[in-house]
Formats: sequence, C-alpha cells, structure tokens
Amino acid sequence: MKYKIPLFETNLGKEEELVLTNVLRSGWLSMGPKCEELENKFSAAIGTDYGVSLSSCTAALHLALKVMNIGEGDEVLLPSLTFVATVNAVKYVGAKPVFCDIVSTGDLTISPQDIEKKITKKSKAIIVMHYAGFACDMDKICGLSRKYNLKIIEDACHAPLSQYKSKNLGTFGDISCYSFFSNKNIGIGEGGMLLTSNKNYYKRAKLLRSHGMTTMSYERAKGHAQSYDVVDLGYNYRMDDIRAALAIVQLEKLKEDLIKRQKIREKYIELLRNIKDIIIPFKDRKDFSSNYIFPIVLKNGNRNKRDKVREVLAKKGIQTSVHYPLADKFSIYKDSSASLPLSEYVSDCEITMPMYAELSEDDIFYIVRNIENEK
Ligand SMILES: *Cc1c(COP(=O)(O)O)cnc(C)c1O
Repeated sequence: MKYKIPLFETNLGKEEELVLTNVLRSGWLSMGPKCEELENKFSAAIGTDYGVSLSSCTAALHLALKVMNIGEGDEVLLPSLTFVATVNAVKYVGAKPVFCDIVSTGDLTISPQDIEKKITKKSKAIIVMHYAGFACDMDKICGLSRKYNLKIIEDACHAPLSQYKSKNLGTFGDISCYSFFSNKNIGIGEGGMLLTSNKNYYKRAKLLRSHGMTTMSYERAKGHAQSYDVVDLGYNYRMDDIRAALAIVQLEKLKEDLIKRQKIREKYIELLRNIKDIIIPFKDRKDFSSNYIFPIVLKNGNRNKRDKVREVLAKKGIQTSVHYPLADKFSIYKDSSASLPLSEYVSDCEITMPMYAELSEDDIFYIVRNIENEK
C-alpha cells in the first residue's frame, strides 16, 4: 500500500549521485580514504577524538562491549524500550542484560533510579539510548558510573547532533554508537560508527573491525605495508568507500535537515496541545534534538485502543509505527524478563507519527485533524 503521508522519507539528491559516480570512477570501492574522511568528519562533528566506521550500529555495540572486555558472568544495565540490537549485543559477548524501566510516560529514557536499584557486584556497564533524540539524564547516569565504577555506552542511533545541557550527546559515555541505516538521520542503506576519546578502545575496535589484522588492504595497495599479522580474533565489520562517500554528504546536510525537523516538531506540538488524552513525550525539553522520530502516547489507553487509532490513520493514508515492542518480552529474552510497568504502558500506547524534513505544514494539519477525529 502506498501511503499519502509516509512515516519517513530519505533526504537524498544530486549531491549523492555525484559522489557515488566519483567513487565508482576512483577505482577503490572497499574501506579506504572515504571511510577515513568520514571518521574524521563525524568524530569532529560530535566532539570525540576518534571514530571507527563500521557496517552497522549493531557491530559498533558489539565491539564496544568487546573492547571493554565485558563477557560471561558480567551484567549490563539497559532499557527494554529500545531496538532489540541494543540488547543482542550484550548476548553476543555472553553477558546478561538487566532491563530497567523508563523515567515516565513523558520521558521515555532509562530511569537512573531503576538502574541504581538493579546494580549488583556483577554490573559492568550501562547502555543508554537517547530515545527520539532526547537525552537520558546524563548527570545522574554519569554520577552512577563514577559511584559504582560502571562503563557507559551511548546507543546514540537516534541522536546525532542532539544535545544535553548544550553539549553533544555521544560525548558523555566511554563509547557511543551510531547507525546509518536508511531511515536514520544519516541514511546510506547500511552502516554505523563507533566514537570514543579512549585511544586503547579506538585501537582495539579498529583491529577487531577487520579480522584482527594489523594492516588493511588499502595500505598494502598503496605500498605502505607489505604483509600483516593477526593478533586478535576479529570480524568483518568494515564499511566501504561507496557508503562512506554517501555518509559524508549526508553529514554535510544534517544540521539543515534537523532544523527543519525541529520546526515540524514545534508545529505538531502547537496543534496537538489542546487534544485531550494525548501525551507528547519530552514536550518541554529545550536542548537541540535530532527529532529522529515523533512519538505520542495515548492517555488512559491500551494496546487495543492504540491499534485502532493506527488503523484509522492508515485508512486515511497516514503511515505510523511503534517504537518499540519491549525487548525483554521477546521469546529469546524471557529468562531475563522484568517487571517494567512504565515501559509496558508506553509500548502498548505509543504511536510514532510521520517525521522527515520535507513534511509540509498541510500534512501536519491533515495528520492532527485525523488524530482529533479519532479521539
Ligand atoms: C537502528 C538502531 C540500532 C541498529 O542499528 P543498525 O545499524 O541497523 O545495526 C540500534 N539501536 C537503536 C536505538 C536503533 O535505532
């Protein structure tokens, strides 16, 4: 079915076509100078010392835990209201995910209070996820990290250039992880990035990205190296220069795209404000946000009511989504499942509305009018 208003539209144009042609003509397609350029530009834009371009954010999360030597017998505190990849990474290294609830129905980020309750002697790290581009309570979470000696990994997939107290998200943790999947703020098909200011983490992540090999084929092709050793058990988590070139263009367009999204959010809030029985999460946040998605939560709702609203909107040609089905309720996590009343409520009553830079004011009026009729 073709929607009148889709949930998301890519922001790709002539610039992307041009750089793709250039990479094809350069004769070098796999990891090479474009990946390195992207790493330099992206880490500089966010404000960390190092960047490691990767095949996905899932790879970034996996490597983050690997370089911290987190594994069997360790526990990692994290939200359940996130994409399942956040949790799968913990399983990859054999550690135990410990699910924490969110702050409230108006703040869908991990609750520092619940984190503190669930810290044990086995706890090694906290993974935070900045939902929709809005910061977790980093003052409190960094405080817990110091008090209990826990590492922080930021799953910042929703939050490139988002801020907390005027400082970029992705610079608070020991490592931050980004996705460049098609529907993210930087969308190139598949891709990801690990950012850190810790030199040891950076060096080890680079090794593990490519089979634990000490030199890369680009260096050998350029005559900078003749051979290689394998010093660690690594993976093939490489990005390629085709997608890195796309990501560089997308990064250049990012701020402008986000400013448009901010205006769209303001319009949504202005029009939705007077509709009863709707919560607009993060309504009063003032820090700059990427607005990766625009979530609303029904008051006094349940899953049935929510699904009905989504159905009616779909019939009007408006595509919506749900962020997220709870990770701890999936079959593979039933052994670690927890009681998370707020996360459960939001997962049942949240609707993700269309959000992309070219969403017009007329579209927003149309969407809000249809929500209103439904209430
Ligand atoms: C998209 C996303 C991921 C996974 O990213 P991939 O690049 O597809 O591996 C992980 N966490 C969150 C919060 C995401 O939104």
